[in-house]
Amino acid sequence: MNTLAARAAVLTEFESPFFVGQIELREPGPGQLVVRTTEAPFCSTDWMGWRGMRRKTPPVVLGHTAVGVVEHLGPGVEGLTPGTRVLVAGTPQCGSCFYCGIGRPDQCSVLLDGSDPVVASLDSGGGRLDVRAAGRVGAYADRMLVERIQVHPLPDELPDSLACLLGCGVSTALGAVFTIADVQPRQSVAVLGLGHLGLWAVQGARLAGAGRIVAIDGHPGRRAIAESLGATDLVDAHRGDPVAAVQALTEGRGADVVIEAAGPALASRQAVLMARRAGTVVLTGVAHSATEVELPQLQLTVHGKKVVGCQNGQITPSVDLPRWTGMLASGELDASPFVTRRYSLDEIDTVVRRSLALDDITGVLVP
Ligand SMILES: [Zn+2]
Ligand SMILES: [Zn+2]
Repeated sequence: MNTLAARAAVLTEFESPFFVGQIELREPGPGQLVVRTTEAPFCSTDWMGWRGMRRKTPPVVLGHTAVGVVEHLGPGVEGLTPGTRVLVAGTPQCGSCFYCGIGRPDQCSVLLDGSDPVVASLDSGGGRLDVRAAGRVGAYADRMLVERIQVHPLPDELPDSLACLLGCGVSTALGAVFTIADVQPRQSVAVLGLGHLGLWAVQGARLAGAGRIVAIDGHPGRRAIAESLGATDLVDAHRGDPVAAVQALTEGRGADVVIEAAGPALASRQAVLMARRAGTVVLTGVAHSATEVELPQLQLTVHGKKVVGCQNGQITPSVDLPRWTGMLASGELDASPFVTRRYSLDEIDTVVRRSLALDDITGVLVP
């Protein structure tokens, strides 16, 4: 089999420094292609993988979305040519599974029923090891072997530095606001957790015309950014009860819409409790694949709340990505507070450390 050299940050053992060096990518098969990576964001999905919280099998290249340039096409790949700038999205749209068939490609079986594919090999000294690509992307490498069903050409007017944010927080948060919660003008929206996801949700709520936008987090710097992006009320999650605080701001009822973007089980519980009766709660956070959430039964039954889960904003890539792309390119979405720093591949251990310490909103790797 022909191979292609790539330089990658490979997770060989959980919670350990990465191996940064050469891997040999497999030749692209039918429907596959090789993309040269230009920028890839780092988010909680990635450090959860690093910590062994997402059932990854090392050695694996992490990084669940990226932008890049098409280099080599496998047999039967249509609509792309070498040199095309593309977004590699973590959520594919195969078009032929049960979920794509019912209009829910966010649940596409290719991603959620399969395991991470082997895309490369690595010389371990004692023989070659198979290397997997996390989430079928494996973005922390200067080249990715990916599938046509997850690759989307980008318009010229959107620079890589903005486009790389599309497949991560932008699509999840805007999908939560517009597609899942369907926020209406003047509604009250509470956003619980102000990492990049929550901050994009604050902007989404503003663009949807929400009245009160209550931004909740324990980190003062992040509350300040939320205010600059359109939050009308700020709540310190570490002082007092955030549920009571949201009720006090909404005539005692609770918010019309709550977007949970924090992760811990307590945040999921608080999100349900701080919604008004018959309100909508969108849960995006995952603390651990085995975490359980406890809730008062009455809140889920008699109170008529709509509690909806969120995988990448319930995205339909072919429909939603052009919308979010346009909003980023036009400046309707302000990306300026999001990218805290850019890093080379050799700095990947620093990126993990700073992400865990909440020093970065989004760190971007530039392989
Ligand atoms: Zn599918
Ligand atoms: Zn992400």
